[in-house]
Amino acid sequence: MFDKILIANRGEIALRILRACKELGISTVAVHSTADADAMHVRLADESVCIGPPPSKDSYLNVPALLAACEITGADAVHPGYGFLSENARFAEILADHNLHFIGPKAEHIRLMGDKIEAKKTAKRLGIPVVPGSDGAVTPDQDALAIAKEIGFPVLVKAAAGGGGRGMKVAHTEADLMLALTTAANEAKSAFGDASVYLEKYLQKPRHIEIQVLGDGRGGAIHLGERDCSLQRRHQKVWEEGPSPALDAAARAKIGNTVAKAMQELKYIGVGTVEFLYEDGEFYFIEMNTRIQVEHPVTEMITGIDLVLEQIRIAAGGDLPMTQDAVVINGHSIECRVNAENPVTFRPSPGKILQYHPPGGLGVRIDSAVYQGYVIPPYYDSLVGKLIVHGKSRVECLMRLRRALDEMVVDGIETTLPLFRALVREPAIIDGDYHIHWLEQYLAGQT
Ligand code: ADP
Repeated sequence: MFDKILIANRGEIALRILRACKELGISTVAVHSTADADAMHVRLADESVCIGPPPSKDSYLNVPALLAACEITGADAVHPGYGFLSENARFAEILADHNLHFIGPKAEHIRLMGDKIEAKKTAKRLGIPVVPGSDGAVTPDQDALAIAKEIGFPVLVKAAAGGGGRGMKVAHTEADLMLALTTAANEAKSAFGDASVYLEKYLQKPRHIEIQVLGDGRGGAIHLGERDCSLQRRHQKVWEEGPSPALDAAARAKIGNTVAKAMQELKYIGVGTVEFLYEDGEFYFIEMNTRIQVEHPVTEMITGIDLVLEQIRIAAGGDLPMTQDAVVINGHSIECRVNAENPVTFRPSPGKILQYHPPGGLGVRIDSAVYQGYVIPPYYDSLVGKLIVHGKSRVECLMRLRRALDEMVVDGIETTLPLFRALVREPAIIDGDYHIHWLEQYLAGQT
């Protein structure tokens, strides 16, 4: 097992990793920018190192500073969390070159899945169903229109290097296509330094359903069921739940086993998520995330498995915690991402939290790094915290979420709590009858 882990992240996920380390008896090193000197993960870690000024590129993305922090503290492994360097294959290689363990998958798998075109080809080869689309990148000498016509409009132009919904444009008609191609390519070029784009059938009313996997790197892999992340705004997840209201045990087992088999073949190591769109009973692969995800607690609540702890154990050479047969889905869980944003305009609302009261009681979990008097800095994401609720059934879970949301107090800044309080009372949500465009339609008053 590792002796000392450096947590190369901030906010709630830094705290989440710290908790797993403590339960494993591993020493922790927090790193922070000058803007995060008062952060909770810094206060609770055994040691901390300031790695630079507020902008992420000078601190949380500053590889030389992180290496120096490992050297100064004698850390033997690095946990990257999500975002920042978590899906940077080069970072994983650099750590290896310095005899440091990267707590994550092999660099080759990060690289493979980071290129969505390669990821899609790999998925197809491994027997995972994919969205119909162009065979790889659309090059200028190809007849994009002919390809689009063959797929059938509407089509989605997507960036090979895409992430966070950037570099994605819908073309509803032939006339839209050229503009969609150039804007997506330009956006991808400036955001990721890679202009390659590909075409995909634009699905009209799918759900976003993702499968959580855990691999040992030696050909063993299991799946831990799904999370339904269909409630999105601008391709960003807002509310996640598991099991999906749209799947039954047979459908879950079928897609889960397909994914687990693919991960066995890849000899994938650690945690990963294979994301699908689901429409009319069919699954279509869109991408794979090779890191711990924001919404991982949903799976933890319904399986009883500590994903971050297992991730660390497996990175240190440990075995999978259980066989597929021993994985049992128990009850229902919902996560709300409470952001420091205006609940109507979604304008960020950083600043000082004057009053903070997290909800409690049976089946209620808060993953957050804020506290009363904490100042949310303007430099990073606007997550205040994740409210995660568990119940024996979906109905119990919804009622528990309702009362937990009503108990929660975050004053001094604007938050999206009022949005969640409305959503949890919305008939379509109560019925589980929603798709990936539902939330935007609801926000536009069109539901
Ligand atoms: P990113 O890496 O930028 O998050 P994804 O490929 O994961 O991109 O897609 C993000 C979201 O965009 C999906 O959850 C879904 O809402 C939407 N999306 C992606 N592909 C399609 C598609 N072919 N048809 C309709 N919506 C899509």
